Amino acid sequence: MTQARPILEVTNLKATYHHSITALDGVHLALGEGEILAVLGSNGAGKTTTLKAISNLLPAERGQVTAGQVLFQGKTTLSRSPASLVRAGLVQVLEGRHCFKSLTVEENLVAGGLGRGASRSEIAADLEKVYRWFPRLQQKRQTASGLTSGGEQQMTAIGRALMARPRLLILDEPSMGLAPLVVQDIFRALQRLNVEERLSIVVAEQNSAVALTYAHRAVILENGRTVLEGLAADLKARSDVRAFYLGRKSAAISLAALSNASPTPATSGALS
Ligand code: ATP
Repeated sequence: MTQARPILEVTNLKATYHHSITALDGVHLALGEGEILAVLGSNGAGKTTTLKAISNLLPAERGQVTAGQVLFQGKTTLSRSPASLVRAGLVQVLEGRHCFKSLTVEENLVAGGLGRGASRSEIAADLEKVYRWFPRLQQKRQTASGLTSGGEQQMTAIGRALMARPRLLILDEPSMGLAPLVVQDIFRALQRLNVEERLSIVVAEQNSAVALTYAHRAVILENGRTVLEGLAADLKARSDVRAFYLGRKSAAISLAALSNASPTPATSGALS
């Protein structure tokens, strides 16, 4: 498990949709202050559901947490509104780079600051910061977001989240549909934010190679359960992880089946 003081702890999380479809069946993860954690897994493994449960966004999708706990800075998130969690510093960038397409890039960014009731001068200062992290957004500040590239829209979505001054930034598949060089740009910016601002980051990815390169730690989900967790470098070095998540997925057998007869929770499956 993580050595740093935890900013986020998810324990034995279970969740359903429509009170009948099981999506999560025992997710464990922990993130220390100032760490980057990658949440990996193939299609339908439960990554998005886990992230939405953390931000208490499942009720909006007719989803329910049925067991387990999510603690952000030691306090449960499950009884707090998503808006109050944003004000407390837990900010999520949803899958699909949601931008207001008819607003300019800068208007999108400003919208992220308004949510926390920031003053004009705070917004101006934060805008300059976002433009330092993502210089391409400064060039496009007056362009309608709908007319910018996929990479620029993802940067706008991340920039808007940064305008809310997060302590913990959660991102759902930021690499989706983007060219490899743009993905590298985005992950490098996230790494700088982590180092220079000590921003804690959880990033769900199907692109395991890039996520394991930039993360400190990682968890792997299968069928709604945590099946492995450990240092990103250790996971990257494991041949079974390489086989299933780093490009050789041909064998029709799960990582959990390889590692154990039955999947173990994170604590007993830890690598460190
Ligand atoms: P992907 O990478 O494809 O987004 P994922 O790892 O994020 O996958 P989830 O989207 O969390 O996985 O899905 C977990 C399970 O919950 C899947 O079986 C999925 O079909 C189901 N599910 C997800 N969203 C809903 C929903 N709104 N209603 C019903 N079932 C859902």
